[in-house]
Amino acid sequence: MKNIVILGSTGSIGKSALDVIEKFPDRFRVVGLTAGRNLPLLMEQIQRYHPQFVAVPDEDIYKQLKNVIIPPNPTLAKGGGGGFEIPEILCGIEGICNVAAMPYADTVISAIVGSAGLLPTISAIRAKKTVALANKETLVMAGELVMSEVKEYGTALLPVDSEHSAVFQCMRGYGHDSVKKIILTASGGPFVGKSADELENVSPENALKHPNWSMGRKISIDSATLMNKGLEVIEAHHLFTLPPEKIDVLIHPQSIVHSMVEFNDGSCIAQLSKPDMKGPIAYALSYPERLQDVIDTVEWEKLPALTFKKPDNNTFPCLSIAYDALKTGGTMPAVLNASNEIAVAAFLDGIIGFNRIPVIIKKVLDSHKPQPAYSIEVVLEADRRAREKTRSVIGS
Ligand code: NAD
Ligand code: MG
Repeated sequence: MKNIVILGSTGSIGKSALDVIEKFPDRFRVVGLTAGRNLPLLMEQIQRYHPQFVAVPDEDIYKQLKNVIIPPNPTLAKGGGGGFEIPEILCGIEGICNVAAMPYADTVISAIVGSAGLLPTISAIRAKKTVALANKETLVMAGELVMSEVKEYGTALLPVDSEHSAVFQCMRGYGHDSVKKIILTASGGPFVGKSADELENVSPENALKHPNWSMGRKISIDSATLMNKGLEVIEAHHLFTLPPEKIDVLIHPQSIVHSMVEFNDGSCIAQLSKPDMKGPIAYALSYPERLQDVIDTVEWEKLPALTFKKPDNNTFPCLSIAYDALKTGGTMPAVLNASNEIAVAAFLDGIIGFNRIPVIIKKVLDSHKPQPAYSIEVVLEADRRAREKTRSVIGS
């Protein structure tokens, strides 16, 4: 039995992770949950899975949760229930970090969105938990530091991001010195094939309509701008210790090939499946085993043609902006991430247009003097300043 903590349990990845856990009650048990502001859903999850610890970031939600918490109803506890009476509720970033490091937990699913996922993920690593990583922002902000902590604490960081799970699966048994390059696939998002002019007045609602994946709001906009792929290039660089020149991106609108690895001998191994995050989540939870019937198999004879093309870097500049930040290194990727978070939030709030997202980020990056990212404090300070700078660029 593996004891599981989910950071970000009310989100898209968090909910899919709970579906996987519930399907395999003999293997997995929920022992800790953390969530942001969706109190009704968090309450439902507490009653259903009976975690021992729960944490929320804000004091007001914490107070409300403390007031409404009721003893669990055993009839609601299907399979995955941890069976603890009433959970201990914790608050703030410290509370979330404590749940990430709680005793008895074996695996922590890191699925908070954005930079808020960094410290809890580090907390899980330092507590020697196996980390199933969905929160790519952790590696974008502080990849070198995080990977060196993974080494120091002797734990495992297993990718949940579908592309990285694909590369991880394709690389099994091969050292990275036998890899010529990896190719991350991208659906291209809802605006693939459009011109910059056509994107000038797109609404957040249109940008949120991803053709193949149902995801949280921030990553959906990142997919539409191709920043998601840029963040994933940086994530892959750290996870697989590959230089940027060995990480390519191709647009593959059918989202069946989740990524590929080209080897030195000219052969290529790809991982294919229906686009369903339960696949990579289950693989990270059960690795090195594979579980039974996690997702539906592909009906090959019914598939449309699988196509691949180069991304359009003129219409979607975020990908090349991210490559440049990776090549510069130091605090630059953390600034990229922070500036992107603020610009995406401004777009979602209707304050800026879609095409301004990369323009604003580029301005912030151009104004930043990168430093070596030698501590988490340095990274967090760069993050804080980049947020301030982005707000002032948006306001000007
Ligand atoms: P989401 O917005 O659906 O969920 C985010 C979760 O984090 C929620 O539970 C929310 O309550 C919590 N949260 C938000 N802000 C918080 C804060 N300040 N403190 C604590 N908790 C907070 O996001 P998602 O789509 O599930 O994505 C989660 C992470 O996984 C992101 O880093 C994303 O890039 C990555 N990811 C997602 C997918 C996907 O299919 N959704 C695929 C690959 C990677
Ligand atoms: Mg992905």
